[in-house]
This record gives sequence, structure tokens and C-alpha cells, in this order.
Amino acid sequence: MSKHTPMMKQYLRIKAEHQDAFLFFRLGDFYEMFFEDAIKASQALEITLTKRDSGQKEPIPMCGVPHHSAENYIKTLVEQGYKVAVCEQVEDPKEAVGVVKREVVQLITPGTVMESSMLDDRKSNYIASLSHFQDGSYVIIYNDLSTGENSAIIFTTGWEAIIHELYNRSIKEIVISPDFPEQLQVQLQEKLHVTLSYQKEVDFTAEYRSLCDNINDERIMKAFSRLLNYIQHTQKRSLDHLKPAEVIELKDYLSLDMYSKRNLELTESIMQKGKHGSLLSVLDHTVTAMGARMLRKWIERPLLHLQLIEQRQNIVESFYKNFIERDQLRETLKSVYDLERLSGRIAFGNVNARDLIQLKQSLEKIPEVKLVLQQFSSSHLQELYERLTLPDHVLALLESSLIDNPPISIKDGSIIKDGFNEQLDTYRDASRNGKKWIAELERKEKEETGIKSLKIGYNRVFGYFIEITNANKHLIPEGKYERKQTLANAERYITPELKEKEQLILEAEEKSVELEYNLFIQIREQMKEHIPHFQQLAATISKIDVLQSFAAVSETNDYIRPTFDSQELHIKKGRHPVVEQVMSDGEFVPNDIVLNEEKNMLLITGPNMSGKSTYMRQLAHTVIMAQIGCFVPAEKAKLLLFDQIFTRIGAADDLVAGQSTFMVEMLEANHAISHATNQSLILLDEIGRGTSTYDGMALAQAIIEHIHDHVGAKTLFSTHYHELTTLEESMKRLKNVHVRAEEFEGNVVFLHQIEEGAADESYGIHVAKLADLPQSLIDRANKILTQLENTEKVSSSENNEADEAGQLTFFAPDPNEKDALPSGNKVIRELKKINLFDMTPLEAMNELNRLQKLARNKQS
Ligand code: ADP
Repeated sequence: MSKHTPMMKQYLRIKAEHQDAFLFFRLGDFYEMFFEDAIKASQALEITLTKRDSGQKEPIPMCGVPHHSAENYIKTLVEQGYKVAVCEQVEDPKEAVGVVKREVVQLITPGTVMESSMLDDRKSNYIASLSHFQDGSYVIIYNDLSTGENSAIIFTTGWEAIIHELYNRSIKEIVISPDFPEQLQVQLQEKLHVTLSYQKEVDFTAEYRSLCDNINDERIMKAFSRLLNYIQHTQKRSLDHLKPAEVIELKDYLSLDMYSKRNLELTESIMQKGKHGSLLSVLDHTVTAMGARMLRKWIERPLLHLQLIEQRQNIVESFYKNFIERDQLRETLKSVYDLERLSGRIAFGNVNARDLIQLKQSLEKIPEVKLVLQQFSSSHLQELYERLTLPDHVLALLESSLIDNPPISIKDGSIIKDGFNEQLDTYRDASRNGKKWIAELERKEKEETGIKSLKIGYNRVFGYFIEITNANKHLIPEGKYERKQTLANAERYITPELKEKEQLILEAEEKSVELEYNLFIQIREQMKEHIPHFQQLAATISKIDVLQSFAAVSETNDYIRPTFDSQELHIKKGRHPVVEQVMSDGEFVPNDIVLNEEKNMLLITGPNMSGKSTYMRQLAHTVIMAQIGCFVPAEKAKLLLFDQIFTRIGAADDLVAGQSTFMVEMLEANHAISHATNQSLILLDEIGRGTSTYDGMALAQAIIEHIHDHVGAKTLFSTHYHELTTLEESMKRLKNVHVRAEEFEGNVVFLHQIEEGAADESYGIHVAKLADLPQSLIDRANKILTQLENTEKVSSSENNEADEAGQLTFFAPDPNEKDALPSGNKVIRELKKINLFDMTPLEAMNELNRLQKLARNKQS
């Protein structure tokens, strides 16, 4: 190290304190990176790797980015999960003795970005801390630094619940203790793909005491202080906008396991990974960014208390019924800016005059919003109405101080209105009068010299000057002006008088710009005191926005207000909110569903692609929509309040995570049956498909029996194992339904209609036919199927003919007889058909003989 240049030594010292971050080291107009940082950054940012002499034998790797475009590069790194430590020169290089002093002024991490260019304005940006306590409990604290939101949850049910919870919140970064168990850290990283950061436990500082006023639990305080200290350490500045921590009681919300959030595509579609195609995308008719963020949060945590749901429903209903007023409301809300994130940036001290103009314009809209709300004449809106209080003096201050179209920079003046500050007005007068005087001088000199093209100009180097073209030079009276600068075709002059005025003007301008800056900073500081008020307005506006969005989407898509019942769920003509969107009018086939104490499990059979999983998802979506207060896609809906939803639906993308589909299936099924209660909803789609037939069928049956006998949750179970449909006879609360399909000219036609009873066949081969597999292959598959049905053993294609000849005619399907189509166990079916009371003993004996032969042949 001793051989390094002094600056390199400084670099290495600072880098040692920021091992886990890229160190952006300010050198003049660039941020430079060295050594490993340079190699990694050049790859991640696709920039050129160079070398620099550092006083050592070999030059060291280096790469850099221009200071003015650094934000984009930082964004790229942070999006990839990295951290960036921004190290600035903190003294004027001209005044520095030796190496310029440098310090890390901010640590930008995935969970703590504040720059609006790095944030999605319609999505919260969470950082969490996770703390483990001796009594086995865990505490999660969530913080969204951009809005100041804080919340806390205590978990006493073990580790698995933590993963499910964190997965559902889409967080970017988790702060844990350095001694957090290694294998759990691995799980966090693998399952959640988050950046892990470390912070030792620290004492709760008095500064943040007020954020925990409402909290008595020591564990929450400790966990909270871990997070706050980390944030403080990274941001190194004021955090005045942090809101008191809200304690989330899990029992107040419908809980969704991580599989449900993904499988049901609540906020993101599995295939596209984006919002498009998700439930969120259908429901999002919000007009403010704050509303969009709140909607996402509501979908992720539906309610469980009827009263709270009905409060939301009541408002949605008023909005729904009054179309014209709702439209006005939407229009008004559109001009409200993101008060929540503006507040965050005010606290951070990085708002400019344009931001404060946005604040002003938003505040100005509040009375208008209230006026529109009044028109709904609904008592349910009273509370929201009352929460919209206007901070008059703040608005008055902003209106009197800031000009309407200020520049982005706060250092170049033109921000503050005339008449706001006396001193500023004096400077401005001086400068304006000076300029007037100069204009007058120009006129006077033109007249005196007779030079029409004489003009007075200004530049930064020479200040004000009188410019006269070479052609007119000879007209200047001797000694009138002092020559200052010679150009190709003109000469520039000054006079002592001009310079005197110039000094006055420049001084006044300089002072006025400086004063404007100071006045702006004062106004900005004053805004800080009102942050809680802005936040309250933001929360109220967001809520109004989400509720109007529910009304708008409910009207557009023809949703109805659901009711809740304690005994029975009954949906009439229910639809899938997302699937119906991509279909033209009337194309989506609505279906009913009934679940109650007597029949709480439906076993759904039907061909592939007939709509089984759509039917299951549509129930889950309807439940979630109802429990967030939205209306639902149905003609009539009486629902139950569910405490949890568990799903195993559709092909998952877990292969990427190194788990086989079957393993995932079993994990998801296990999670469901071990956590569900009789108030939960379980959706299991084709369980057992991932293994051999008998294995799969056995597991499927065992799972159904377990839920039926021990869990009692409302359950939809779709299967292609027709054998399972006989369970209806032995299981009291299980009912068969099927999706109707019909054969038409040898092809299967899906009617997407759910009907009572079991499906009579599986139509798999028909679907293959629809998929245009070669006819010869389809014929062969049909033959194999027939054999399977009869012998449950496949022969190779070579001795296929011989085998077929060896079959008893009983098993050869008679194409004219529908029943003879291959399906199920034929002996049992035939046995079931026999009506003993219509037979003589001899006939019965003969029939028994025939069936026995049939059975024996099947086994051979
Ligand atoms: P399965 O689970 O039985 O294999 P899906 O539920 O995946 O079938 O449905 C297959 C396709 O059928 C869907 O993508 C959708 O286009 C269509 N579909 C499903 N249900 C309906 C319905 N009720 N009305 C109209 N089309 C439907």
C-alpha cells in the first residue's frame, strides 16, 4: 500500500469502508472506479475498461462515467441489485492542501433509491428488515423511503411464513443482522432474489422515538431501529418524512400464500412478468400514481373484516351510481401530483421550484375535490371529505412566493415573484433601472455619434461594451471611448460611466440570485413542517382514487356488488375478470358455483383446455375482488369471508429454481393442507399429474380425503383421473361437476359450461387432434388407449396387430354405441348397470359368468 500515490491511498481507505458497494470516486468531471470495481462495472455497464498508473509497477484497472450522466449508470447498477457509494470532493480543489478531501455522501441501494428516475411511480419501493428473537419470533419492518411509509409485523409461526410474506411484497432489499443464520440467508436470496444488507443491532435513538409512540412491543422497537440505522447510514441526511410504524395484524387480512400471488397472477402475469394480463391491470383505473400504488397494496392484502369491506363497498356504490360526478372527480384528481413522493423529497431536501409548483397546484385542487365529493350527497364519503383539509397558509406562501414556470435549477434565479421580499425587489429594481439606463445610453450615443449601427452588448468576460463596426470607427470623436477589444469587423469600447453602472447591475443581480436561492431554501424548509399534513392528504386522495377506480371498472365491465354470508357461497353467472377481457362480447361463458357446509368440495372433471382452471381462478379472483371492496364479475354473488387462499394451479416456472414440477406440486399441496382452516379456500389443479398414473392418482385421492376429513376448507379440485369421480359416493361433502364438451363430427367442441356430475371421458386425444398432430399418430394413440383401457398394458407397435386380434370382442369398442367408447373400468361399469330385480337366478348366474370372464381376460 505504501507505494500507492496519496490519492490512491485515500481511495483504498474509503473503499475499505464500502466493500459491498461500487465506489464512485469523484475525480474532476468523472466518477472513477478502480481494481475489481472497475472490472465488474465495465461489464455491468458495458463501458471501456482502461488502466491508470497508481505508483505501483503495474497500472491498475480503471473505468469511469461522466459526472453529469452518472444517474443513469447508477440506475443500471441498482436495478441489477448492486449498491453504489457516491464519493464526492468535499472541499474546493483550489483551496486543498495535498489531496482533495473526499467523502461518501450517499449510499444508493436497491431498497433506498429516492431519485424519481430510478423509481416506478406506480409501485412502492420497499426495503425490509428482518429480525429474529430468542422466543422464536420474527419481526419484519417494511419501509418505503420514497413515501415514508413504515409498517411492522410480528411472526410467531415459524420461518416458512416469513418467506411467503416477503415474497408477496416484492421487496428489493432486506436488512438483517450479520449473524443471521447462513442457510436462511441463502433461502432469502434464492427465493426472493433480493439484495441482503447487514446492520448490527443498535439502540433506539431518541430522534426516532416519536415514530414508535404507539408501539409497546420491545421486539418491534429493536427491529425498527435496525432498519432506521441502516437507512440513516446509507442516506446520511434528514428523514423527516418517515411516518410512525403501523403494526399490521395478520389476522385482519386475507392471507395469500406465495404460490397464490404468482399462480393467480394478481399483480404480474407469469409469462410476461409484467403487470399486463394480471388482475391488477384489469382493476387499475386509477388516475394518480399514489392511487395506483395503494391499489397494488390492497390487492396484496385483502381485508377480512366485513365492516371495513362494506365501508369501501358503500363508497364504490355511490361512485358507481353517479356517473357524471364520478367523471368530474376523475378529471379533478388527474391534476393532483404525487403528494406522497413529493413529501419524501421535501424531507430529503432535494425538491426544486418546479416540484413546489406541483405541490402548490395539487393543494389548489383540494377544494375542487371536496366540492365534487359533496355532490355525491352520500354519508359514506363524510370521513374522506373531512380528512381533506387545506393548509391555507402553506398554499398562500407558495402562491405568493414562487413564479409559475420556474427553471429546474434553483441557483440561477427567476424563481421568486416580485413583491414577495422587499430586499429582493430593491436588487431587482437596481438591476432593471441599470438596464434601462444602458438602453437610454445606447440611444444617446447613437444620436451623438450619428452611428446608427452602434449598439451596447454584454459578455461574461468584458461585461458591457459599446460596439462599433470598422466602417463607422472614424465617426467616433477623439477620446470619447476607451478601446477594449478588437474583432474582425468591429471594435468594442467602454466608458467609466458604463463600467460604473455595470458594477451596480452585476452586483444587484448576483445578490438577487443569491437571495432567491436563500429564500427558496427557507420556503423548502418551511414545507418540511407540513409533511404530515401532505401525507394525510396523499393517503386520502389515494383512497378516493382507488375507490373511484373500482366504480369505474365495475361499470365498464359490468360487475355487481357482492354480499357476504356465513353459510353459503353462491355465485350466479360468474366470469373470469381477466380472461373475459381478451374475448369479444358474449364469448365468455359464465358459470355458477355453490359451496356450503353440505357440499364444500367440488371435484371438477372435463377435457384439457375446457376451462377447469379458468373456473377455479375465477372463484379466487372474485373472492379477492370482493374482499378488497370492489364489485365482482357475476350476475349475483353471495360470498363467504375467506381467511386464506391456497392454490396449486397451472404450469409453474419453478424448473428454473431447480425444483421439479412434481416437487413443487407437493410442496404447494402440503403448504395448503397444513395451514388451511375451514374458512379457507383451496384450489388444486390436476394434482398428481407430475408422476406415474397410480402414484399420482393415489396421492390425489389421499389429499382429497385429508382435506375432506380433517381440514374442511372450501376446495375446488380439478383432475383428469376419472377414477376419482367415484369418491362422490363415499365422501359426503364432495360433489362432482364437469365442464361440458361435445363431440361434433369426430371433433371435440368445448362449451366451457360447468354442469353437475362427472365427465364421461377425457378427450385428451381429441385435443391432440385439434393441435393438428398427424392423423396416423392420432389413430395410433386411439388404439393404444383402447388397449390400455382393456389390458392396462401397452404392447409395442410391432405386435400390435396380433395383440388386437387376441382381444375378446367384449372389449372392442363398438363405434355405434357411445358407452362402448373406451373409458374407466368396464367390468365395474357393466356391473353397475345390472338391475338384479329384473333377472331370474339363471340370468344372474350367466351374467356373473360373463363378467368374471371379462375380468379375468383383463388381468391376463
Ligand atoms: P383446463 O384447465 O381445463 O385445461 P383452461 O381453464 O386453461 O382449461 O381453459 C382453456 C381455455 O379455454 C382458456 O384459455 C380460455 O381461452 C378458454 N375458456 C376457459 N373458460 C372459458 C369460459 N368460461 N368461456 C369462454 N372461454 C373459456
